[in-house]
This record gives sequence, structure tokens and C-alpha cells, in this order.
Amino acid sequence: MRLPHALLFAGPPGVGKRELAEALAARLLCEAPRGAYETACGECPSCLMMANGQHPDYRVLQPEADSEVEGGEGVADGDKKKASRQIRIQQIRELEDFFHVGGHRGGARVCLIDPAEAMNPIVANSLLKILEEPSSSFYFIMISHRWRNLLPTLLSRSRRVMFGHPPVEESQRWLAEQKLDHTARWLPFFGHAPLALADAARSGRLKALETLVADLQRPGDPLALAVRWEGLVKADAALEMEELVVVVQKWLFDLGLSRVGAPPRYFDRQTLEPVAKKAALPALLRAQQQVGQLRAWANHPLNPKLFLEDLCVRALKPLNS
Ligand SMILES: [Zn+2]
Repeated sequence: MRLPHALLFAGPPGVGKRELAEALAARLLCEAPRGAYETACGECPSCLMMANGQHPDYRVLQPEADSEVEGGEGVADGDKKKASRQIRIQQIRELEDFFHVGGHRGGARVCLIDPAEAMNPIVANSLLKILEEPSSSFYFIMISHRWRNLLPTLLSRSRRVMFGHPPVEESQRWLAEQKLDHTARWLPFFGHAPLALADAARSGRLKALETLVADLQRPGDPLALAVRWEGLVKADAALEMEELVVVVQKWLFDLGLSRVGAPPRYFDRQTLEPVAKKAALPALLRAQQQVGQLRAWANHPLNPKLFLEDLCVRALKPLNS
């Protein structure tokens, strides 16, 4: 198999770039690929080490914050420092050592970088120095959700593979295979990225979103709602405040579309039905604007409770009129 030594998997989040990159890494390291597509065998010593996350010839470069989410190495408990959302220069230095020491098992060595945009220009430039050194057995697989932001030199040194959104039927079939067919109506909300939706379903985030939408379908007293929503965004809960505001924004946006007879973009008609008829368009547009302004404060509200009360009052006004 002849493969470029630096690949860039580019496309929207949640469509399977990371999954394919991991499968390709396993294939490159596998000692006995098999099947019509010569995929990793899953049984050789190399595949077993991959499955255990302990392959000595495989490295994953990702922001510390992402490693923490996966329960991997990260900032120790009690450490007040927030985990970085950037790939740090130190990680590239460690990669240099990895690069210059020969492979442990005499085969390929693979480094996965996810996402490439988490490297600032200084970090990206030190990676480029490694990319420029020819090595026949070293493969880089970079993942990017925003490849247009990458350094031009990084783009020119890698072969770009574009990923798009799968067709709806394909996403539905895949969700059914994952026993998640009941979540299919959320596909538009997740930008038709089935893996992002599946992630949300498994992490409990989708459940919080469903609660939120059920509340929006039957808006009652805004202040009572604010109390309920406070529980949804409390520390360690599945939803962040900004996400909550975005859901409300999308909801108002779709109500506006329904009101003028256009097809909704994020939710299905049935979901919107109970409130769509009651909402007056001018009030909806005003609410959209006000909620949009609130979004700027969502990540650091001075008082989360007051913020939510403000949000509920503004968002629900058009629905109660
Ligand atoms: Zn194998």
C-alpha cells in the first residue's frame, strides 16, 4: 500500500474522521492485514497493543483537555490549572524523540494529530520541521474541522482527504446499527453529523437536550423554567450554558421559519407544532435578537440564575403572547 506520509482528514466534526484515522493507523501497524480491503486483523500483537492503547509505535497528539475527557493522562485532580485546549510545543518535542528513535517493532510508526488547528503557528512550524525530514516508515494523520485556518505550509505538505456529511438514509442506517434509531430526528440539529449525535446520546447530553426541547414545547412560567434549566447546566451536568442558549436560538429560528411557511432547519415540524401557531413573528424576531445578545455572556455570566431568568423571560415572551 503506497500512502502519502502526511495525510490531512478535513471536514465537519462528527462525520467519522477520527474513527477512520484510527482504523488506518491500526492497519498501518498491523502485522497481518486481511480481508478484501486489507484491514487490520485485530488479533496480531500489534493490533492487541493498539486495542489496549499501548502501541509503542503509535502517538496521538491532542490537547490536554481532550485527553482528560477520555480519562487519559491530563491534569491531576486538585490541580487548579485548567487543561489546555491547545497542542503544546512540549508535545512536539516529545514527538521529535519518538521520531528519531527507531520503531520498536520494525514496522511503520504513526502519529495522529487531532485537531490540527489546535497547533498555533509556532507549534505547527516545529511539526513542519519533522515533516520535512524524509522517513519511509513514518506516517502523520492530521484531523481538521477547520482546515482553512491551517498554515499554508502545513496544507501544502500534506495530502488532503475531504469528508462530507453522509446522506440522511445512510446516517439513519448507521444509527440503527448503533441501536440509536430513536435519535434520528436530531440529525438536522447536529448538522447531519451522525457520530456527533451518537456521542451526545451516549454521554447523556442528548437527554438534557430533549428535556430542554420538551420545556420549550410547553413553556410555562419563565421563572420556574429558569430554576429547572439551572439544574441542566450545573457543574458536571451534560450541558454548558452556551449550548443551552444555542438550543434556544435554534428553536426561535425554526419557529420563525415555520411562521413564514418555510421548512425548519434544526427541528422537525411535529416538534415545533405545539408552539409554532401561537408565536407572533415580530415578537419572535425580537426575541431572537435579544437571545443572540445574551449569548455573548453565556460562558461567564455574573449570576447564572439571573442570566437564566433573563433568557427564559426573553425567549418565552413571544410564545406566551
Ligand atoms: Zn493485526
